[in-house]
Amino acid sequence: MASKKEETKKEAKEKEEVVEEVEEEEAEEEAEEEKEETPLDKYKKAGEVASKIREHLREMAKPGVKALDLCETADKMIAEAGMKPAFPLNVSINNHCAHYTCPWEDELVLDKQDVVKIDVGVQYDGFIADTALTVAFNDVHNDLIKASQEATETAVKVIRVGGYTGKIGDLIENIIEGYGFTTIRDLSGHLLLPYRVHGPKTIPNVSGRKGNLILQDEAYAIETFASTGSGESHSDRTKLYIVRLAEGRFPLRTDAAKQVRRLLDREYHRLPVATRWIYKELGTAKAKMGIRELVQVGAIYQYHVLADVSDAYVSQHEHTVYMTPEGPIKTT
Ligand code: MN
Ligand code: MN
Repeated sequence: MASKKEETKKEAKEKEEVVEEVEEEEAEEEAEEEKEETPLDKYKKAGEVASKIREHLREMAKPGVKALDLCETADKMIAEAGMKPAFPLNVSINNHCAHYTCPWEDELVLDKQDVVKIDVGVQYDGFIADTALTVAFNDVHNDLIKASQEATETAVKVIRVGGYTGKIGDLIENIIEGYGFTTIRDLSGHLLLPYRVHGPKTIPNVSGRKGNLILQDEAYAIETFASTGSGESHSDRTKLYIVRLAEGRFPLRTDAAKQVRRLLDREYHRLPVATRWIYKELGTAKAKMGIRELVQVGAIYQYHVLADVSDAYVSQHEHTVYMTPEGPIKTT
């Protein structure tokens, strides 16, 4: 606590004037920045916030901590930075590879044997930062974590304008298998587009693919996975915690469904949304009913939890890069 000091009126007034001047200058600077901001600047700004959250959650993730606390901390830090989520925080544990975010009132608690993937998505004006790391509390998982970390870091270093993404896949699989693990074959890195997490180009995590030509000024999320399981991820259709509005027009019957659609359209630009955010906004009964109808008519895309076999442990690391002729710029 700072000590309280009495101020004379004069002192207070002088201070106010100085504050006003500073504020004016800051406003001018901000206006100028807005004019000059390039896509790269925006990718970097989103990346800075996403990395800060990722590192904060790395420290926060401990046995006994509720997964929901991690999710809500990410939500809060994004809002405090004046940004929006690009997708809900993914806290995918053990054999879950991706797409677990806490459902409404989730009681899930981290266990000392867990392998926890923390995947953060932040967007600034539609420009996305997508970054992930894995934490574990038992040293037996050290190599598993090192494998995907090394694969992602290597890929981030070698990606080049004019190259093909398939070459990166060769390298990734080689590194993961070198550690004695299997790569997750059906998950890949991806091109980032404004307000779109998964663009039409991918970076395979397996060898032997041609892949896509990498162009200047493109942004990619490079994400690799190491698994002790089968190397295939299947959708767990009983677990749906992330949704996104589908393209197209769908006639809706109930007011609940219309309200959910309006919320997603207005607040999230068709980016992936946590069902718990919808519950929070509209109340659980209306949210449930609305989501159910939207699913039935095909008006929302469903991100089911993706999982390897039940006894598998999976690690993941991810960074976002922006491509320049001089090489990649890591924004996260
Ligand atoms: Mn991610
Ligand atoms: Mn990603």
